[in-house]
Amino acid sequence: MDKYEKVKKIGEGSFGKAILVKSKEDGHQYVIKEIGIFGMPSKARQESRKEVAVLAKMSHPNIVQYKESFEEGGSLYIVMDYCEGGDLFKKINAQKGLLFSEEQILDWFVQICLALKHVHDRKILHRDIKSQNIFLTKDGTVQLGDFGIARVLNSTVELARTCIGTPYYLSPEICENKPYNNKSDIWALGCVLYEMCTLKHAFEAGNMKNLVLKIIRGSYPPVSVHYSQDLRSLLAQLFKRNPRERPSVGSILDRPFLYCRIERFLTPQRPAPGSIPLAQKITKPATKYGVPLTVRKVSDAAKKPAERKPVVKNKPVSRLLK
Ligand code: ADP
Ligand code: MG
Repeated sequence: MDKYEKVKKIGEGSFGKAILVKSKEDGHQYVIKEIGIFGMPSKARQESRKEVAVLAKMSHPNIVQYKESFEEGGSLYIVMDYCEGGDLFKKINAQKGLLFSEEQILDWFVQICLALKHVHDRKILHRDIKSQNIFLTKDGTVQLGDFGIARVLNSTVELARTCIGTPYYLSPEICENKPYNNKSDIWALGCVLYEMCTLKHAFEAGNMKNLVLKIIRGSYPPVSVHYSQDLRSLLAQLFKRNPRERPSVGSILDRPFLYCRIERFLTPQRPAPGSIPLAQKITKPATKYGVPLTVRKVSDAAKKPAERKPVVKNKPVSRLLK
C-alpha cells in the first residue's frame, strides 16, 4: 500500500472494502478492492491468486482496467482504474422516472454485451452483473467492473454474499440451488436490460421467499410498448426460466438490431456523429483489440444510423470478434 495514498473509502462491498486511492507514482486515482483472505485455507488462497492472474490478463475497452494486485497483512488488494462517471444504478435513479430512449439503452447494452462476450469467450463467468457494477464515463463509454472478483471467493462466501447483498439478479437455477453457469450471467444481463427500460427491478418483493417465488415463476411487469418488439422479445428470451433456452452473449450480439451498433464501440476515440469517415478511424484501434473489422465504404458510413444496412450480413459476430 506504500505506493498509494488513501483518498476515501467508497464502499463496503460484499467482498470487502473499496477504497479510492491516489498513486504516488503516476498521480492518478485508482480504486483498490481489499479482500480478506486471512481466514481462508491455503488451497482457497492459492485459488484466489490464480483467479487474480486471470483477471490481470483482461483488457478490453468495455471492462474496467485492472492495474495490479498484491498481498499484505492477510489481505489481497486488487488495483483497478477509477471510473469517475459513476455507475448505471445511480444514473437510473437520477432519471426520476423519465424513461431512457431506446437508442441510449441499446448503445449501453451493446457495450455491456461486448464486455461480457470478451469474458465468456475466455471461459470465465462474471457472476456479479448488476447496474452497480456497470460504469459510465463522460464520453458515453460503458465499462463492466468487478468481474472475476466473485470467483476469487469460495462458494460459502458467495452464498452468504447473495443473502446480504443485492438478490435482485438471482436466476431461477440459483434459487433452486443448481450451479451457476454462463446463462446465469445472461439472466443477470436481462435484469440490467429490464432496469434500463423501466428504471425498476424486474423481480422485487418484500422478503426473500416471495422474491424467489417471483423469480422461479418468471413473472415481471411488462416493459412499455414504447420500446420496440425486438427489444421486448429479447428481454423475454433473457428471462427464460430454463438456462439452456437463454441465448448466449454471442448470439445476442448477432441480432441485426444490435449487430449494426457494434462497430462504433470498437474504437476508443469514437468520432462525433457525422464527422470524419468512420472507416479511416476504426481500422487501427480495432486491430489493437484483436478485432478484425470489415472496412465499410465511406459513403455507407456517412449515412444516418437508421439508414445503414446491418454491417456484413451472414457473418456471425462470434467470427468477427474472435
Ligand atoms: P458491490 O459489491 O456492491 O459492487 P463494491 O465494493 O464493488 O460493492 O463498490 C462499492 C461502491 O464503489 C459502489 O458504489 C461502486 O459503484 C463503487 N465502485 C466500485 N468500483 C469502482 C471503480 N472502479 N470506480 C468507481 N467506483 C467504483
Ligand atoms: Mg462492485
